[in-house]
Amino acid sequence: MSNTISGPLTTESLAGAAYIVAALLFILSLAGLSKHETARRGVAYGIAGMAIALASTVWGTLQSDFISGLAGIGTLLLLVAVIIGAAIGLWRARAVQMTGMPELIAILHSFVGLAAVLVGWNGHFEAKDVAPSLLGVHRSEVFIGVFIGAVTFTGSIVAFLKLSARIKSKPLMLPGKNLLNLGALLAFAALTVWYVAEPQLSLLVAVTAIALALGWHLVASIGGGDMPVVVSMLNSYSGWAAAAAGFLLNNDLLIVTGALVGSSGAYLSYIMCKAMNRSFVSVIAGGFGLEAPASSDTDYGEHREITAEETADLLKNASSVVITPGYGMAVAQAQHHVAELTRKLREKQVDVRFGIHPVAGRLPGHMNVLLAEAKVPYDIVLEMDEINDELAQTEVVLVIGANDTVNPAAAEDPGSPIAGMPVLRVWEAGNVVVFKRSMASGYAGVQNPLFFRDNSQMLFGDAKDRIDDILQRI
Ligand code: NDP
Repeated sequence: MSNTISGPLTTESLAGAAYIVAALLFILSLAGLSKHETARRGVAYGIAGMAIALASTVWGTLQSDFISGLAGIGTLLLLVAVIIGAAIGLWRARAVQMTGMPELIAILHSFVGLAAVLVGWNGHFEAKDVAPSLLGVHRSEVFIGVFIGAVTFTGSIVAFLKLSARIKSKPLMLPGKNLLNLGALLAFAALTVWYVAEPQLSLLVAVTAIALALGWHLVASIGGGDMPVVVSMLNSYSGWAAAAAGFLLNNDLLIVTGALVGSSGAYLSYIMCKAMNRSFVSVIAGGFGLEAPASSDTDYGEHREITAEETADLLKNASSVVITPGYGMAVAQAQHHVAELTRKLREKQVDVRFGIHPVAGRLPGHMNVLLAEAKVPYDIVLEMDEINDELAQTEVVLVIGANDTVNPAAAEDPGSPIAGMPVLRVWEAGNVVVFKRSMASGYAGVQNPLFFRDNSQMLFGDAKDRIDDILQRI
């Protein structure tokens, strides 16, 4: 982009203007995405910003091709890469199920990390074009970019494997894990100083290997209920990796966009840590200070079962019902049936509301998106803090495919792996009906004593089928 054409409007100034417009559109996009009502507009702003950024990059590449006598070869390569990338992106986005979204996001983060590593390596080999006075800065940019990129790359791959259940979500508890992480950070700092003084390829290889191992270890050490924070943390890391690549490529838009993603991801992680009563530092430092949870084989007694017909009768005669959906509602794709049940009950003057846990499902806002898709009115969809104190006065709670987010062990058992995580206190309601297919545990792999309480009954089967049965009876 440093090559320019003469005239009042240079390629550089045009690209600069286009990048400012694109950056503003990205900011408007983030603002729009923060509310249901404006989310569509937010997506449109984001698409417009990205279209402007792409068009101006293609235009800039075309200009520099002609100036350097490459006759469009660079542009051709760029377009081929864009077409291949767009085709794969479209195919995946159309094929992905809503339940597969978190792992798709995790794997996309890994690409950002890999791109930052490649840009960093390229920066090592292209260092001859850098002005001597800027060499020190350039070399530290190479190292920082490669380090953040490699941590993001392997960290996101582990997150992908855990979220898609290809590996266990249990935290990896290596002896001295905090020292290992600290050692990797110190090695990075020492190698950076060495590389700035003497830019050898072997140092770059060493830092890449250390960062790849650190990324793997950081995310492998975090388990179960803390994974949502890891996903937003990796989102943040991928933003910083993009910003580091932006510095190396001298691309302002990449720096701005990377910083936006990096800071919004960090803020989201902070909010989620607060909502889950977790220490922000312990999560970003790979479960720093967390002990391996004691495994519990407590006998909670027998569970009771209920039929769909009995549940329908219970609901018809209730004056207040709260529905707490979880990941199982997404798996069963039961949101439209849940919306229909809500409509029918409200017609019968039953007060129906929803209680949404901040980490229900597998991605932030998962349940809100599904309920909005099924056109459940926003004003009856309440956050956990808004509904929790009212559950004790509620006649019937329907737990639809939720498990960890309604587990009383989090509030009552200090030895539980999810101890301290705020949960929906559904067990305080008059009657609790739990929709699930078996007595299996939830994502965190923790047994749920709720299923054995006197006021709880299990309604086994696929959530969509069971709600269908209830609808027929109502
Ligand atoms: P859980 O994952 O704890 O439990 C879901 C339950 O749904 C399972 O026990 C399962 O039981 C049941 N289920 C699955 N399929 C069906 C079906 N077709 N019909 C009926 N039930 C079904 O869900 P929660 O939403 O309560 O908790 C979310 C968990 O995921 C938390 O631990 C959270 O930390 C974690 N997480 C959240 C992320 C986020 O950003 N929100 C990201 C990553 C992890 P069964 O198999 O017996 O049917």
